[in-house]
Amino acid sequence: MSYMFISRLGKKEKKEIKSIFFDLDDTLIDHKKAQNKAIMDMWSHFPAVQHLADPKVFAQAYAGVNDDLWKKYRDGDVDKLKLKQLRMELTFGKVGVTLDDWREADQVYMDYYKRYWEWMDDARESVVALSEHYDIGIMTNGFTEIQEEKFRFFSLHRYAKHLIISEEAGYLKPDSRIFEYSAGKAGYESREMLYIGDSYTSDILGGSESGWKTAWYCPEEHTDPARAEADIQFSHFSELTDYLTTPN
Ligand SMILES: [Mg+2]
Repeated sequence: MSYMFISRLGKKEKKEIKSIFFDLDDTLIDHKKAQNKAIMDMWSHFPAVQHLADPKVFAQAYAGVNDDLWKKYRDGDVDKLKLKQLRMELTFGKVGVTLDDWREADQVYMDYYKRYWEWMDDARESVVALSEHYDIGIMTNGFTEIQEEKFRFFSLHRYAKHLIISEEAGYLKPDSRIFEYSAGKAGYESREMLYIGDSYTSDILGGSESGWKTAWYCPEEHTDPARAEADIQFSHFSELTDYLTTPN
């Protein structure tokens, strides 16, 4: 198996790490896969959509609309309820279907989405092993009720002392204030914190600009030497676990 692992941390810097916070979606759990499968099921669920679009087109419509609305939500241009409403109305609208009741579509989507929740490869083992050496936390952008359900489903309370959701913190990554808030909750200096996530902008830039150390999870094994803000880059959790559980 090919893999990629890079650490730019010196011995002294590595030793500074006391607390490790993980991103949730697409770092610990496979959100994208669950989302895609849920959209496929939703396509089967609504005959009107089946007649007008193939499932890939419908999935792309949802992904585009959702990304766009999350940016607007982060900028404060739409609130949570409006995001949920427009996400359904605009997705169905893109394939030519007018929704009578967006709440029903939202419920159908959520019911399917939850069926496909799974850990990313070796992520659970990594959290378990690292929790024996470090204070563990989760910090996630997302809606409280759905992220809390994930915490319960994956028994994350067992390993993580701190579970931080943007909706409760009042800020979304990459805003430095959510990193400051989390370091405060953990009770460590920012340089003692390591953030592990898959998003270059939200996780790596957000973390490094807040003075945290960062580990960029790149399961696709792409490397970009220009993006040297990440102290660590890795494509397999087992490599990261080994690195962080061995002295030096
Ligand atoms: Mg993520």
